[in-house]
Amino acid sequence: MSIEITIDGQAVACEAGTPLIDVAADNGVYIPSLCYVRGKRCLGTCRICSVRVDGNVMAACSVPACEGMQVEVSAPQIADLRKALVEILFVEGNHNCPSCEKSGRCDLQAVGYEIGMMVSRFPYRFSKHPREVRAKNIWLERDRCIFCQRCVEFVRDREGGQKIFSISQRGDRAQIELDIGLADAMPPDQVREAVELCPVGCILEKGVGYDNPIGQRRYETRTLRQRTLEVKQK
Ligand code: SF4
Ligand code: SF4
Repeated sequence: MSIEITIDGQAVACEAGTPLIDVAADNGVYIPSLCYVRGKRCLGTCRICSVRVDGNVMAACSVPACEGMQVEVSAPQIADLRKALVEILFVEGNHNCPSCEKSGRCDLQAVGYEIGMMVSRFPYRFSKHPREVRAKNIWLERDRCIFCQRCVEFVRDREGGQKIFSISQRGDRAQIELDIGLADAMPPDQVREAVELCPVGCILEKGVGYDNPIGQRRYETRTLRQRTLEVKQK
């Protein structure tokens, strides 16, 4: 059923029930996200897509469009809230971009550029989680994990459907884990799929480094905003 909502005061038509983040993208309004993957189940973990809906702050990936909704994306207060959430992610982990294999094709880095982040307003935590290096083909730079849970939910053992990744502990002790037996059974294309799915440089493929040289990486020619809107308008 076709309905009408407003985004930043502009009336837009959409199908009832479509996630607001998709409605916005289909109408040329970029809302950043680090956990949402269009076409897959909403995770709602990063909250970077927070917008105001009828006066209440909500994650745009988790709200289905309903007739008459008033959505605010670019109001300064809500834009600053999104920026603060990104700043928190940068201080919770260790993000030394110049030495990171994912630099230039990292969603967190790209969102940092998009929202104009120069420095975090929060103190750095300098977290110290050990790397997970035991698997044959894949390793984890745990201090870069933002706990989006994409890998946990969307990378499954192809035989039995079990989870390969999980999160242990809570709070500042939380860390991403890998089932070594299942990881060693991952075919090469699934390893690469996991590396690509991770929005940061936490999941990395062994024996592959800087395969796409700095200077030829996609965000240097096309911003995340452009990529998101292009993909979503297909
Ligand atoms: S994961 Fe992204 S933000 Fe973190 S160090 Fe690597 S490139 Fe920078
Ligand atoms: S390892 Fe990557 S995909 Fe998995 S939860 Fe952490 S940031 Fe997300």
